[in-house]
Amino acid sequence: MTDFPPPHLARYAAVLTDYDAFVDALRAPLPQTLAVNGLRTTAEALAGLIAGRLQATAIPWFPGAFRLAAEDRPGRDWTFTAGLYTVQEEASLVPVRMLAVAPGHRVLDLCAAPGNKTAQLALALGNRGTLVANDLKLARMTPLFDVCRRLGLVNVSTTGHDGAVYPVADGQFDRILVDAPCTAEGKARRGYLRDSTPAFRAWITGQQRALLRRALALCRPGGRIVYSTCTFAPEENEAVLSDLLEESGGRLRLLAPDFEVPGATPGLEAFGGRRFHPELRHARRLWPQRTDTGGFFAALLERVDDAPPAPVSAAPLPPAAPAALVEGLLERFAVAPERLAGLHFFEERRHLRVLDGAHAPPAGIAYETRGLDVSRLRGARPKPTTAAAMAFGPGATRNLLDLDAPAFAAWRARREVRLPVPAGASPGPVLIRHRGLVTGTGFLRVDDDGKGRLESQFPKAWVRDEPFPDDD
Ligand code: SAM
Repeated sequence: MTDFPPPHLARYAAVLTDYDAFVDALRAPLPQTLAVNGLRTTAEALAGLIAGRLQATAIPWFPGAFRLAAEDRPGRDWTFTAGLYTVQEEASLVPVRMLAVAPGHRVLDLCAAPGNKTAQLALALGNRGTLVANDLKLARMTPLFDVCRRLGLVNVSTTGHDGAVYPVADGQFDRILVDAPCTAEGKARRGYLRDSTPAFRAWITGQQRALLRRALALCRPGGRIVYSTCTFAPEENEAVLSDLLEESGGRLRLLAPDFEVPGATPGLEAFGGRRFHPELRHARRLWPQRTDTGGFFAALLERVDDAPPAPVSAAPLPPAAPAALVEGLLERFAVAPERLAGLHFFEERRHLRVLDGAHAPPAGIAYETRGLDVSRLRGARPKPTTAAAMAFGPGATRNLLDLDAPAFAAWRARREVRLPVPAGASPGPVLIRHRGLVTGTGFLRVDDDGKGRLESQFPKAWVRDEPFPDDD
């Protein structure tokens, strides 16, 4: 790479005393991190399950998160498809921690795709209540749907609006994440270099301002917004926020985070001849050479005006599915009813889906998806989706097959498995368990010799061509 860094990054020499280290850091591989799905396991148990295959070191400022070695490939491990964690680079955890979502908050993720921050926010709500995940580009939402299915999230509805004109009249939010589109200079460490021409920068800063202004209108008085980007460009970070603070006429303030990422630095005081609002010192910049992450910027904003909050509007839950339908599906597995407490099952487009019973997104908005897909309603005996099996299977006591490492590897490769029929299992849909975790479904047949034949229903899209690593 002879012209590295490109000129639009070379300008940061003006604010970096360690510019040579900055350039070196952009050439180094970027490690990924795992953040545990506390609905399914604990950080300690996860560390034990991945030991020997992934080199995990706990991240002190984000409970339940681990930094991996640069060569680790967590997406290929069975614990990934088992929905035990999200995978992201460390900097992506900063806005999630800053927003400090707690159970009871109504949360909006305004620019949500591909969705790992959405997943972490939904977990911070305890998989209860209301998270609306929006993105202008629905085509980018596929990984978001996938992570929600893997983790078993029942508190997420999605929309496909232009966030800059998101409907305001229909209700406000307690917490909003604006993880804005940007020039993504901070991804240079991953070899990604986006257009940084002045024309593009001018256009994107217009988008960022519009998204933030709308977020301010969508936030209830006293509520909080996190603005984040993965670019170094002060025009897209400090300048955007400085202008918003000034135009808000005291309706907004920038707060210091209640945690520190080692090596992170305050927002810039000035750049390119412009001085920024003094509260920008509370923002945080992650420079790769200091934090060993990608480049990142995040700031926590609070709406402090005393305007009356907009009336709370909530979309009613869809009509409940017949109880017999839900019971019929779960009866085969003898799922304990307590496992389903507080959940609301409903039919939508010939699928059975489930939402948390307290899910209450604003009324008057067209939602693309709501909740988790439980079963496709066709045929005489509908069977649970992989997502539903993983989410509700831990409460099952019947038709549950424990697979050892070789049988589990075959099941993950969608190969047929011959096995003795366990006591209490009968031909038909079964749940698959490995090392105590329900990981999906299969279909059991019993041959004339009394031996079982398991047809794998491991999702085709999740199959990897590689040998299954020995996890025992
Ligand atoms: N928060 C995401 C995550 O953690 O996976 C990453 C978001 S990415 C930095 C920015 C996203 O903003 C893109 O998915 C893009 O499609 C979306 N976007 C761009 N313009 C938008 C707009 N006007 N309204 C809503 N989303 C927009």
